[in-house]
Amino acid sequence: YDINMEQLVLEQELGRGNYGTVKKVLHLPTNVEMAMKEIRLELDSTKLNGILMELDILHRAEGSYIVEFYGAFFVESCVYYCMEYMDGGSLASLCCFPNGNVCLPPSLSSSPGSAWTSSPPPLADEHLCRIASSMTHGLEFLKTGLGVMHRDVKPTNVLVNSKGQVKLCDFGVSGQLEKSIAKTNVGCQSYMAPERIKGSSPSGSNMEDAFTSYTVSADVWSLGLSIVEIARGRYPYPPETYENVFAQLSAIVDGEAPGLPEDEEIADEEVEIHTQDNVLYGASPGQSSFMRKGKRRWSPEARDWVRRCLIKNADERATYKELLEHPWIKADRQRSVDMVSWVAKAIEWRDRGGR
Ligand code: ATP
Ligand code: MG
Repeated sequence: YDINMEQLVLEQELGRGNYGTVKKVLHLPTNVEMAMKEIRLELDSTKLNGILMELDILHRAEGSYIVEFYGAFFVESCVYYCMEYMDGGSLASLCCFPNGNVCLPPSLSSSPGSAWTSSPPPLADEHLCRIASSMTHGLEFLKTGLGVMHRDVKPTNVLVNSKGQVKLCDFGVSGQLEKSIAKTNVGCQSYMAPERIKGSSPSGSNMEDAFTSYTVSADVWSLGLSIVEIARGRYPYPPETYENVFAQLSAIVDGEAPGLPEDEEIADEEVEIHTQDNVLYGASPGQSSFMRKGKRRWSPEARDWVRRCLIKNADERATYKELLEHPWIKADRQRSVDMVSWVAKAIEWRDRGGR
């Protein structure tokens, strides 16, 4: 459609990123609920029109693994971008502790009465597999269908809905918009592949260079890192500290790549809740083998898949084709996975005290 501000009723704020605010809106002419992202840019109307033209290719993005684009417009120096509303929000909000790796685990939390006394509802291997498969299909679609790479793959840019669908958002279709936003890596968690970090000038004097010398395989790294974070419930690299502002970036470049966590015990209370629940336990032989007697276990196939994404040498990293033909992902096509129940539980957990 041709959307403008007069047709929209603003509802609640859905979240806030480094570059703007996302609000839920109702589009009156169609009665469709949408998510509207506001991006503040100091640009003239010629440049803003250029951005709108570039965003137009998004009308072709109808993959089922991509958040649908409804339209964009600008008012003064803000670009407003309207997209499909995903009622589950981001995977980061559903599986990860807020503040990522700086947050204490619930057992060490100093205020037991606080909202963070429970862990997120456990993800089984097959849930993680469905997420990985959806993300890979989405990225593959962007590349072959639209000829673009994503450039900002991370758990906050993976959205879910109560139908159990998993879709990507915030991909870099508009070169002009990307440049104007000038991502100076303001986030405190980097999902950049080693070659992107190495390619950027440490003095920060030449931002252009920093974002030109990498290819689609850089997204594969970010994909693998996102899957590890979703599985662990927290970002896997150490935070940058006052003493060492490059701690994280040097760990990414020089350290060993992270992987799926070792088998872990699941708290008794969670086992009790979920053993009564056919969704996660004992519903089928395949499911129960991954999560039984309070143990969470990632399959060897899952570990291998993640390892292939997180190869530090970009040339050796898996391609989307290889990732989609991997036994872990192939198995996903042959089974039905109850994402709906997991999403419902995760939303309940988050709304009890999350973000
Ligand atoms: P960054 O600014 O580093 O990209 P971010 O991805 O969290 O971080 P935004 O893209 O501005 O920032 O999104 C903010 C939040 O809004 C997201 O984390 C998500 O929870 C929510 N959100 C974004 N798009 C939608 C949508 N289409 N439907 C529902 N919620 C959304
Ligand atoms: Mg985002």
